[in-house]
Amino acid sequence: MYDYDLLVLGSGPSGQKAAIAAAKLGRRVAIVDRRDMLGGVCINTGTVPSKTLREAVLYLTGLSQRDLYGSSYRVKEDITVADLAARTQHVITRQTDVIRDQLARNRVAMITGTGRFADPHAVWVDAGSGRETRVSFDKAVIAAGTRPARPESVDFDDRTIVDSDGVINLQAVPRSMVVVGAGVIGMEYASLFAALGTKVTVVERRERMLDFCDEEIVESLKYHLRDLSVTFRFGEEVAAVEKHRTAALCVLRSGKKIVADTVMYSAGRQGQTDDLALEAAGLTADHRGRIQVDANYRTAVDTIYAVGDVIGFPALASTSMEQGRLAAQHACGEPSRTMSELQPIGIYTIPEISFVGRTEDELTETSTPFEVGIARYRELARGQIVGDSYGMLKLLVSPEDGRLLGVHVFGTGATEVVHIGQAVMGCGGTVDYLLDAVFNYPTLAEAYKVAALDAANKIRNITRIDG
Ligand SMILES: Cc1cc2nc3c(=O)[nH]c(=O)nc-3n(C[C@H](O)[C@H](O)[C@H](O)COP(=O)(O)OP(=O)(O)OC[C@H]3O[C@@H](n4cnc5c(N)ncnc54)[C@H](O)[C@@H]3O)c2cc1C
Repeated sequence: MYDYDLLVLGSGPSGQKAAIAAAKLGRRVAIVDRRDMLGGVCINTGTVPSKTLREAVLYLTGLSQRDLYGSSYRVKEDITVADLAARTQHVITRQTDVIRDQLARNRVAMITGTGRFADPHAVWVDAGSGRETRVSFDKAVIAAGTRPARPESVDFDDRTIVDSDGVINLQAVPRSMVVVGAGVIGMEYASLFAALGTKVTVVERRERMLDFCDEEIVESLKYHLRDLSVTFRFGEEVAAVEKHRTAALCVLRSGKKIVADTVMYSAGRQGQTDDLALEAAGLTADHRGRIQVDANYRTAVDTIYAVGDVIGFPALASTSMEQGRLAAQHACGEPSRTMSELQPIGIYTIPEISFVGRTEDELTETSTPFEVGIARYRELARGQIVGDSYGMLKLLVSPEDGRLLGVHVFGTGATEVVHIGQAVMGCGGTVDYLLDAVFNYPTLAEAYKVAALDAANKIRNITRIDG
């Protein structure tokens, strides 16, 4: 007899959903995590703090209202770290409470500490008191997530040179900042600090950024960020960072030097598998700490599953939750289901980006014909009302059967608006649905109708000539 039917290592989005799904199926479930990490990276250092900071910055700077009230509009003149931290702490506390309550209601036991495998059916849990407790289980789900990767050559001090964990604990809003790495996390923080008035320089080894997104939208983002005084150094690499008394000096391989109050590295993430003693369970991780799984999230050991960031791409809270749920259902012998291939991507830069389906580049590469329908927010009454003159929605439509191949949104509410397109695509709908639908007025959702009309008109023009 084991202590639990299912033991989950890690209480982030994937671990929570795995535990609750198994508990709903009547299993005896426990989650192991550290005292101050309930909710995982997602709640404590990643998604939730970064999105709350963004919301606080947008509100306090008045940035999103400046189209309406002028470029000098501010809600608060001197925005301090305390202003930002107060909102973040409030949300983290509330969200942690919600999770604690959900787990308790579903009778999921919380075991505080760091877990490491003793064998394939037991872990040792170290609560920090010097004594370890052995907990046995029939099946396990590893949901240990990731931490920021720290290049060995860089002397992180969590004050001047920080990673994405350290950046949320800065003592003051920096006047200048170098962001190393133009991935999603790097660009989200670059936007946020640029909106606060920090002079940001982004250094990226590659020639492009966010190259999995619509190119036109990435160009628009760059334009907006340049307008907020962001400097981009593409095709450049940081060779060394020197710490001086009042600032850091970044030396690029090209010989350029940049002085900054803060240097933030966003150099990828590393699976948190080193504490897990995987070998005791008969498992291994790759050089980036990731664990390999099959289509049902099962590891090389049949009774042990792995979900969330620890298994790698796409490493999002949104997909991690679903992986957790699916893994638990499989572990409990429920009929197996797979995750929908239609997964939206949300990038909380300022302005935000979201898309679902294919990009123009991908369709062109595979010689898939498509027509583009565009709606600009400034042509919508809601766009004018909210003061968004730059937002846009782009539909990629198959001229053959009207299917939506991709939906790309830039600007206010992009990460929400995209779900309408996702629903239409997921239900196999065509552009005709959008042409015939009545939308609330005035809304940003109306952009779908405008873009659908644009695409349909273009397809009609081609058909008229081409037959
Ligand atoms: C700055 C930032 C912004 C992000 N923004 C977004 C976003 O906008 N949208 C989005 O979808 N995703 C976003 N993400 C990604 C998202 O946070 C992750 O995909 C998600 O948190 C992964 O969830 P997870 O279940 O794998 O576990 P995590 O949230 O990574 O948590 C893992 C947990 O496992 C615990 N753990 C590790 N080892 C052990 C052990 N040995 N014993 C016990 N417990 C252990 C850790 O303490 C931690 O609590 C962002 C990430 C970052 C860093």
